[in-house]
Amino acid sequence: MEGLLTRCRALSTWATCSHQLSRYISHRCHHSAPGRGQRLILSRMFQPQNLREDQVLSVEGKSSDLTCKSQRLMLQVGLILPASPGCYHLLPYTVRAMEKLVRVIDQEMQGIGGQKISMPSLSPAELWQITNRWDLMGKELLRLRDRHGKEYCLGPTHEEAITALIASQKKLSYKQLPFLLYQVTRKFRDEPRPRFGLLRSREFYMKDMYTFDSSPEAAQQTYGLVCDAYCSLFDRLGLRFIKAQADVGSIGGTMSHEFQLPVDIGEDRLAVCPSCSFSANVETLGLSQKNCPACQGPLTETKGIEVGHTFYLGTKYSSIFNAQFTNAHGKPSLAEMGCYGLGVTRILAAAIEVLSTEDCIRWPRLLAPYQVCLIPPKAASKEEAAAELMGHLYDHITEALPQLHGEVLLDDRTHLTIGNRLKDANKLGYPFVIIAGKRALEDSAHFEVWCQNTGEVLFLTKEGVMEFLTQVQVV
Ligand SMILES: [Zn+2]
Repeated sequence: MEGLLTRCRALSTWATCSHQLSRYISHRCHHSAPGRGQRLILSRMFQPQNLREDQVLSVEGKSSDLTCKSQRLMLQVGLILPASPGCYHLLPYTVRAMEKLVRVIDQEMQGIGGQKISMPSLSPAELWQITNRWDLMGKELLRLRDRHGKEYCLGPTHEEAITALIASQKKLSYKQLPFLLYQVTRKFRDEPRPRFGLLRSREFYMKDMYTFDSSPEAAQQTYGLVCDAYCSLFDRLGLRFIKAQADVGSIGGTMSHEFQLPVDIGEDRLAVCPSCSFSANVETLGLSQKNCPACQGPLTETKGIEVGHTFYLGTKYSSIFNAQFTNAHGKPSLAEMGCYGLGVTRILAAAIEVLSTEDCIRWPRLLAPYQVCLIPPKAASKEEAAAELMGHLYDHITEALPQLHGEVLLDDRTHLTIGNRLKDANKLGYPFVIIAGKRALEDSAHFEVWCQNTGEVLFLTKEGVMEFLTQVQVV
């Protein structure tokens, strides 16, 4: 998996690591096991960074289809590539960011007692016919038939599957509840008009949690816990969000909230009260309502991208599938349910949409695919001797700061100027870019440290860089 690592460290004279030589080393080390002392180099990344804008347009379709910033930027720097309408290849940087996001989600879900499972994407029609959603979901369900003529859909959500699974457990006791079961899997929706890249695609990653409680009071408490965990997640990612009252839609139940990231291209209209914490989806509120139901103050409207949705379901599904447990009086009782979704790929794209400038990607710092990019001087330039210092710095960082192992990338494209490589690094949004330029050759060598999220530029000695990097959080 880490075949992209190469062993440059074996070279005592790293400064002579010319383009040709580094190619030789990459080749020679390609089959060796990764490990300590191996360097991650940019030239071997599977990242079509050289895609020009006109090429992007020709692969994605007409330029008018590139309707949002995150889609355009993600295509330009090779984070995603279109496969078919509404379906994308996720390239290495994106998968790294997504794996980090899933780790943060796991921490939050397991922090409230969540247990991770994985249910099949292929979902038999009978299950959906029991709840009548085989018909109700209409064309949104992506349906297919196997060789025996048996009908299936590719699951967009799993209320039926999980409730049937719980119902199959005949000896559940109230003492075992609550169960908070969740998965992070690919979901499918036959979008009539997929658009905005990963924001509205036909195949996407979602975290869906289903909870089973022994009483309505306990289920309400669980509902609150999951909502708090969602708030904590978005806080940790540094994303401003709105928790809005929402419609229960085709999922059903009695109470629902949406977690929305406010942004202009958002397709949801939200009514927000500036004087209290009330907010609701306009669809829920009714178009005529101009005043806040909580404090009667005037409501303002904003647009949002829905990144999470919570539903208090009660016994809507457990009564259909007979998902029961034995209560404290020894009697069978229906489980009180909730379901809770987070759009994983959508959070990634929405975060990029919200945080980036028109030309440069910015990530929630915890999710950046690589935390640090090192830029050594151009080959055959006046500063070339500083390349060796940069090599030492790389090894020193990964040895002394084990949390940054695998997080430091060396931009070895030394045929390019520092300026050109800095421009690429700025576009890709590594939180920290460290340059060995002129001042690296002074008596006390100084590196140039760019903090991309704050725009600060610092000149630090090697010790200063090490001290500075101890603050970098990695999930
Ligand atoms: Zn209000």
